[in-house]
Amino acid sequence: MSNAKSRADLSAAFATLRRRFEASLPERSAKMLALMEQPSHSNLSDVVAEAHKLAGACGTFGQSVLGSHARQIEQLAIEVDSKDDDERLQALPSLRQVVLEFDIAVQTALQQVSVEEAENAEKLHQPDTVWLLLTSATLAEELTRQLQAFGHKVECFNDFNSCLTRLQSTAPAVLFSVIHAKNGDSLFKQTLLLKQLKQLRSRLLVLSDRDEFTLRINAVQHRADAFFVSPLDIPNMIATISELLEHGNKQSGRVVIVDDDQLLAQHYALVLNSAGIETHIIANTRQIIAELLVFQPDLLLMDMYMPEYSGAELAGVIRQYPSLKRLPIVFLSSEINKTLQLSAMAYGADDFLTKPIDDAQLVQAIKTRLQRSLQLKSLIEKDSLTALIKHSAIKQVAELEFERSQRYGKPCSVVMLDIDHFKAVNDNYGHATGDLVITALATLLRKRIRKTDKAGRYGGEEFMLVLPNCPRPEAVVLTQQILDAFRLLNFGDGAGHFKCTFSAGVASSEDAQYSAAEQMIEAADKAMYRAKRTGRNQVL
Ligand code: GH3
Ligand code: MG
Ligand code: MG
Repeated sequence: MSNAKSRADLSAAFATLRRRFEASLPERSAKMLALMEQPSHSNLSDVVAEAHKLAGACGTFGQSVLGSHARQIEQLAIEVDSKDDDERLQALPSLRQVVLEFDIAVQTALQQVSVEEAENAEKLHQPDTVWLLLTSATLAEELTRQLQAFGHKVECFNDFNSCLTRLQSTAPAVLFSVIHAKNGDSLFKQTLLLKQLKQLRSRLLVLSDRDEFTLRINAVQHRADAFFVSPLDIPNMIATISELLEHGNKQSGRVVIVDDDQLLAQHYALVLNSAGIETHIIANTRQIIAELLVFQPDLLLMDMYMPEYSGAELAGVIRQYPSLKRLPIVFLSSEINKTLQLSAMAYGADDFLTKPIDDAQLVQAIKTRLQRSLQLKSLIEKDSLTALIKHSAIKQVAELEFERSQRYGKPCSVVMLDIDHFKAVNDNYGHATGDLVITALATLLRKRIRKTDKAGRYGGEEFMLVLPNCPRPEAVVLTQQILDAFRLLNFGDGAGHFKCTFSAGVASSEDAQYSAAEQMIEAADKAMYRAKRTGRNQVL
């Protein structure tokens, strides 16, 4: 048996043990509660014995909070048991209270465990897979085609049972399901199916044949992320799915860590990395501004006391830079004095975590704060119709990437795209349909670009891509692929079916000696207009 294998076997064995121990906890805590109902000497000494065993075991199995709680029960029970009758009667309620609190703590801890297990279950997920459970074969075909155009994998089902069977081996990222099956069965009666979806963290979107308040309430009760009514607004549904899946993938965010204790900083970085959060450690605090500007974190995790400058001072300097004004700063320090914590926050920090902090707590704390920070950023920077970056923000991205490419000598490209004859779409099919075309292209752009690329809504039906580390030929190929996918999409309803195209212009930092991003953007714009003049529906 290889080393790696035996280690894996061992850790599986540990996990099994731990699960078994956790499963026994509610019963053991209930037993103590029952003993407290008749607090005779012999029952109290049973409580002492049980609490003692629990105190040891909880620590070993990673439930240290429960462990110290059990220790408290043990000590208090010994004390109560040694008192004479009158005093004993008086002290019993407080002991009972502590045992009761332990029982509640056990339940909370187990809920946490089941959340962690659900997170493990997520690994079963096919990240880009969408399941369709529909009654209309035509709709299923049309949706399959369109979802595939956006790069999703699709599986179709006709009834709840076959869907449930398939769930035993794999889980979709999203299930899009009708509420009422062909035989009249309701989705909301499929308790097992709904429960498994929830456990496997698959998202649920529902399609209803009628718009009824009770059905909408049911959908909310089953945590559906969206409620669609027939006839289905396809582009809207696709945009919803794409956004859901993107949020799932990208919300992890970037964290910069500043701590004079390098080992500790590296430990935090590892812990956050293992939760999918990208990190960067700053060792030299004098470089902090330059490094923050390059790494562009979503959150800064900083030690409070450092030899050269304090965290509070550094926070003050950071807030002097307009582009760093909104960066959330979280202090991590062993300072437990609330007044000192508050005065540190006056310098512009947003939050305070106290050391020592265990790994799971750190991840949880940083995740929630990152989420909030990303939400806020998206509200400020993102266009509401397309969820793409707004005009001013995408221009800033272009400037940043242009400067980076100059500094590191790697080419970057920008692409300008403009939908062809879009005015005619509005005139013929209405402004709302026009909006759907814009949303569809935005979704496609987000879907097709690399993680480091950025897409922005430059104007009404005009978009800009910023592609770092991307020479011109690659930018042309990427844009052509997007155009090929875009012109396959069908818009409008059955009667007024239509397709759209766009024209695009590419400019790369290698094309000329540009001195600023502005010039490169202008060149892309010129190329785009050339594409318009020479026939549209092309990339130049
Ligand atoms: P070309 O191929 O030359 O680009 O022709 P075009 O019709 O697309 O170009 P033009 O610039 O003449 O028209 C763009 C139209 O886009 C005009 C404007 O009403 C419409 N538009 C701009 N923003 C929005 C929007 O958010 N929603 C909708 N539905 N239409 C918009
Ligand atoms: Mg246009
Ligand atoms: Mg235009």
